[in-house]
Amino acid sequence: MGKRDYYDVLGVARQASEDEIKKSYRQLALKYHPDRNPGDKEAEENFKEAAEAYEVLHDAQKRQVYDAYGLEGLRGSGYSGFRGFDDIFSSFGDIFQDFFSFGGQTRQRTADRPGDDLLVTLNLSFEEAVYGTEKDVDINTMMSCTQCNGSGAEPGTKQTTCPACQGSGQVVQAQGFFRISTSCARCQGTGRVLVSPCKQCQGQGRLRKKRRVQVKVPAGVDSGTRLRLRGEGESGYRGGATGDLYVRIEVIPHPHIERDGDNLYTKISISFLQAILGDKVEMPTLDGEKTLDVAPGTQPGEVVRFSGEGVPRLRGYGRGDLFVEVEVRIPKQLTPRQEELLKEFMELDREKERHKGKRWPWNKHKDHEKDTMSTVQQ
Ligand SMILES: [Zn+2]
Ligand SMILES: [Zn+2]
Repeated sequence: MGKRDYYDVLGVARQASEDEIKKSYRQLALKYHPDRNPGDKEAEENFKEAAEAYEVLHDAQKRQVYDAYGLEGLRGSGYSGFRGFDDIFSSFGDIFQDFFSFGGQTRQRTADRPGDDLLVTLNLSFEEAVYGTEKDVDINTMMSCTQCNGSGAEPGTKQTTCPACQGSGQVVQAQGFFRISTSCARCQGTGRVLVSPCKQCQGQGRLRKKRRVQVKVPAGVDSGTRLRLRGEGESGYRGGATGDLYVRIEVIPHPHIERDGDNLYTKISISFLQAILGDKVEMPTLDGEKTLDVAPGTQPGEVVRFSGEGVPRLRGYGRGDLFVEVEVRIPKQLTPRQEELLKEFMELDREKERHKGKRWPWNKHKDHEKDTMSTVQQ
């Protein structure tokens, strides 16, 4: 092969910077890459030539030798150029990864790359969260290509062992005394290359599609609960493992019932007469109407507890409790007759207080004090 000047090959000036050299090579490598020019001998030669030029010029030491003594000088220092593609790919493993990973290309390190996990939010009513439900969730995600069964290979064609890494998926680069093992750029670390990529998915083995997933929501979930559906996420690249689907629960608040963990809190409003005399009151709960037995003399703010009538425990057995706070309504307006009766009631109440006047708490307290003093004197 008649050797052209390396600077001419890359189309850069002799004083070109490292960046300019890299940029120019990147363009040429893209243009003549064998994956893009299958069977094109001329492209192959151009690709090799550019790679050789780059290999020398991007290395400051080699470039210095080349500038001073030309190709002969390099040969004298032990450099023999590339023998073939395998050499090129194994030498530039990482560089190719840099080069081909832009513009939505899938030239990344993708050895058995698994699909991503997905996260969706599911809104539930208060009752659905408490009792559990089943919901359909629509997701738009990467799914295994049915044309190639996720392999990425056009049906009827095979994948062959990657010539650059002999199927290991790894290439070893020597850098001075170090030998660095990197993922093979030719096959993205899979160890296999496609003879002919699937037309349906462009060799990715997966396609973006809409999918409906049925989500079984257990009883007792709350806002922030995450359900994990194994294998319902994104399909992997060329048959890689499928990701998981995470469903984050968001509960729409209830207008009358509050929730704290497994316990439910609600309020009920009764008249002051019901509070004094006691009554049976119908009360709406998540389980339906429930009768609350209001004891005579119930105080405002008193809390009645219904054991085991709260939220089913998500991890464990049984249910939390339902707490009902009693609010007492005081009438703001009275009819003359009501007022008359209440005034009569008040009079009776005062009389009652006068009768038990001697036994008011502070008198009782003084008696108690005397008792203790006499005890001490003994
Ligand atoms: Zn396909
Ligand atoms: Zn390989």
